[in-house]
Amino acid sequence: MNKEIIIIGSGLSGLTTAYFLKKKGYSVQILEANSRIGGRIYTKKTHNADLELGATWLWKYNTSLLELCKELNIKLFEQKMDGDALFEAMSAHPPQRFNLPDNQEISYRIAGGTTTILEKLVEEIGEDCLLLNERIVAIEDNTNNLIVKSETKEFVADTVICTVPPRLLVNTIEFSPSLPVELISIANQTHTWMKDSIKFAVVFNTPFWRKNGLSGVGFSNVGPFTELYDHCTVQENGYALMGFLNGGLAELSKQQRENKVIQQLKKFFGDLVNNYKCYDEKVWKKEQFTTLKDNQFIFPHQNNGHEIYQNAFMDGKFYISGTETSKVYGGYMEGAVRRAIEISQHIIKD
Ligand SMILES: Cc1cc2nc3c(=O)[nH]c(=O)nc-3n(C[C@H](O)[C@H](O)[C@H](O)COP(=O)(O)OP(=O)(O)OC[C@H]3O[C@@H](n4cnc5c(N)ncnc54)[C@H](O)[C@@H]3O)c2cc1C
Repeated sequence: MNKEIIIIGSGLSGLTTAYFLKKKGYSVQILEANSRIGGRIYTKKTHNADLELGATWLWKYNTSLLELCKELNIKLFEQKMDGDALFEAMSAHPPQRFNLPDNQEISYRIAGGTTTILEKLVEEIGEDCLLLNERIVAIEDNTNNLIVKSETKEFVADTVICTVPPRLLVNTIEFSPSLPVELISIANQTHTWMKDSIKFAVVFNTPFWRKNGLSGVGFSNVGPFTELYDHCTVQENGYALMGFLNGGLAELSKQQRENKVIQQLKKFFGDLVNNYKCYDEKVWKKEQFTTLKDNQFIFPHQNNGHEIYQNAFMDGKFYISGTETSKVYGGYMEGAVRRAIEISQHIIKD
């Protein structure tokens, strides 16, 4: 209980680990490189809308995440799917209308945006446990404890739990002594889920697509967007469409992508699109605390939950966590929560 525990990263995994350890009386310090909490969860609140530019959905089989939401008194609502969908097969033809099958798996959204989970966790943990703008650059084994170095400060800990995606971890943090060669090799071939995705959202004055019996769901073989969904708030006071862009557009400017999206939306829904209130997006490939700047191809979910991540390193003082290290639902929010539970229980049992 007197152990000093440092958690690197304030994404879902880091904050949930801190929450479970704090509940048992441990002293935790979370060090986050970014100027905001959340990592791959990012809800942009604007014009009454909660724009999910990172993680959005959970499903009924995400039992650990659902349990956490229940404990934190977080409300869920169903992703709106009723109405017809549109499919654009070829650029020369208008999108075709079709019925979505009834028997689809229901996806749920978080009322107030996915960031609500993180805000509630910070409320429980206490803001004093969290330091933003502290990019960790080195970790040194001092036999009895670990020295964690950011660009400007040094911290001492008995135990360190690192939630940085494995590939980023082994390429951006220096270890003394070095981490095992096999671990470095596996981490370099571990996929970071959604690292190349571009998410966008467009806010409107009204959900005008619903009047025509459309669900807001759209698919396109042509692009720039490949998938599209209704993205209105649970209170029905913020109206938006949200989707994924073709990853190849990452090098265009935001304005160029916005123009392309609006043109495509007009093909789907007509001139009412011209009255949009705002466009926003996140290019995850450019997020330095998620994605490593290189183009190495790794298969989606490759090495997620690999056996090697289940060990502790540096004589049991260093744990590698984060969703990509989870054997179950690695890459997803559920994986992040499961890993947080596993590692906090391991430390508590010790
Ligand atoms: C566009 C997109 C859509 C998604 N959609 C879904 C979805 O619908 N459903 C779902 O279940 N999952 C979805 N996901 C995945 C989900 O977001 C992740 O599984 C989850 O958020 C991962 O949490 P984490 O804490 O493991 O990692 P992260 O959120 O990546 O957290 C790692 C943290 O470490 C910090 N960090 C990095 N380097 C350092 C350093 N050197 N020093 C200090 N801090 C550092 C980062 O800033 C970050 O805050 C989506 C992800 C994206 C990007």
